[in-house]
Amino acid sequence: MTIFSNLVRINILLKPLYTERGVILAQRTIATHGNFDYDLAVIGGGSGGLACAKEAVNLGAKVAVLDYVTPSPQGTKWGLGGTCVNVGCIPKKLMHQAALLGESIHEAVAYGWQVPSLKDIKISWAALTESVQNHIKSVNWVTRVDLRDKKIEYINGLGEFKDAHTIIATMKNGSKKELTAKNIVIAVGGRPQYPEIPGAVEYCISSDDIFSLGHPPGKTLIVGAGYIGLECAGFLNSMGFPATVLVRSVPLRGFDQQMARMVTNEMEQKGVTFHHKCVPLSVEKLESGQLKVRWLNTELQEQSEEVFDTVLLATGRYALTKSLNLEVAGVNCVTSSGKISASTEQTNVPHIFAVGDVLAGRPELTPVAIHAGRLLARRVFAGAQQHMDYDNVATTVFTPLEYGCVGLSEELAIERHGADNLEIYHAYYKPTEFFIPQRNIRNCYLKAVALREAPQKILGLHFVGPVAGEVIQGFAAAIKCGITMEHLSNTVGIHPTVAEEFTRLNITKRSGKDPNPASCCS
Ligand code: FAD
Repeated sequence: MTIFSNLVRINILLKPLYTERGVILAQRTIATHGNFDYDLAVIGGGSGGLACAKEAVNLGAKVAVLDYVTPSPQGTKWGLGGTCVNVGCIPKKLMHQAALLGESIHEAVAYGWQVPSLKDIKISWAALTESVQNHIKSVNWVTRVDLRDKKIEYINGLGEFKDAHTIIATMKNGSKKELTAKNIVIAVGGRPQYPEIPGAVEYCISSDDIFSLGHPPGKTLIVGAGYIGLECAGFLNSMGFPATVLVRSVPLRGFDQQMARMVTNEMEQKGVTFHHKCVPLSVEKLESGQLKVRWLNTELQEQSEEVFDTVLLATGRYALTKSLNLEVAGVNCVTSSGKISASTEQTNVPHIFAVGDVLAGRPELTPVAIHAGRLLARRVFAGAQQHMDYDNVATTVFTPLEYGCVGLSEELAIERHGADNLEIYHAYYKPTEFFIPQRNIRNCYLKAVALREAPQKILGLHFVGPVAGEVIQGFAAAIKCGITMEHLSNTVGIHPTVAEEFTRLNITKRSGKDPNPASCCS
């Protein structure tokens, strides 16, 4: 059967039966009837779309995935797998690791390693980007093979709706393919936003370009202090490329602001320059090829300018819904952001769903997109009931000193529960491995935001320090299970680790006691 045919198809599906928690109870045989090419068409082959497609096919559905990457204004493009694999989490973590390794070489000397000459140690940007891109290409390849093995039809075309059940895919060579599907999932994700200032589109790069940039970035201005901006500034600076950040409002808006200050303090101490309350006005290319940037301090109403080698825009992302022709399918979207409102991933058109970054008001994170996509497939194709729980999703900012958190920030907890009903436990700590190289410990800090009333249910955990993501992940499970301060203080730590610091928390902010550690082992 070709994808163009509209023949009535009868599928005998062996469908697992799911419990509330997604555990397979039994297999049941059901028959689906339909006059569509596919049971499911997914527009967007990124984290959410692929997870949904794979789960659906495991449940016996006939599935097609459309994925197409429009080149960035600087011409960067990439393969199958979406943002995370190609221009997001993965290359970002690899570059973060490269930066950490550079710092480790210096620390190694203090531990007795004989390094020939520290001043000659520098990074080869070309070698780094080649290694990163080789890894990405291998993931692209494995993803394609996986789709083929699972018999998921991969269509490398830009999808748009023709009507509520029909999608037109425009292929690379301009030819068009039409396909029909009983169910459609929109998983198109987003792309970096460009501010409307002269020179932005012509001369600036974004996170879409940095991981494959064909030359070392040199002195770099990062516009935007969200997590993507700070992470890029962090790894570039640690690699020896001077980094300056323009902050429009506050760094890491939406995150706990005390922790955000720890992160930026550490970056400043490592040499990153921050210009607060500043917005860019223009970017001009000089004869030297460098970029002259003018910006405005909105508080002082003062203009400044400086010359940089690279300007990286990290001023937010927009959802890729514009070219989808959602109107002909009758799907509503939140007009200002282009995002889709679908509280249970079901849009206002019952057989059209949305997952991942395209959803309004949901965390833009890969595991969120994957989990929601999988659960959705189980509901549509296996009669499961479980919905995605978007609360208490843990995340980590991979700045030089990492920041991991789960649950409510102190600000949000106060807003929801009132300061009088909360107890905030906090501590500075000294990672053992920092002692010998005498690393800065001033920003190694953690806190637990808990209800004041016993047993003091924990609402949020925050940690700035090494391997923050690894530390927070386990505690995220504990928060899901309703962990209290009582549980935490009755947990025996693993010594000497940084994660054990959570089990040692005993000083409250209300007490006014000094949260600095007396010694490592008491
Ligand atoms: P995407 O992964 O963006 O996939 C959407 C796909 O659909 C893309 O391939 C796109 O080209 C394609 N597409 C769009 N429109 C069409 C169309 N009309 N037809 C066909 N195909 C189309 N998350 C984390 O959890 N941890 C991190 O550390 C992290 N770091 C990040 C760092 C950076 C620099 C960035 C940019 C993001 C990061 N993220 C991180 C976020 C994460 O990458 C996203 O949340 C995740 O990729 C969203 O998945 P998605 O399926 O919604 O969309």
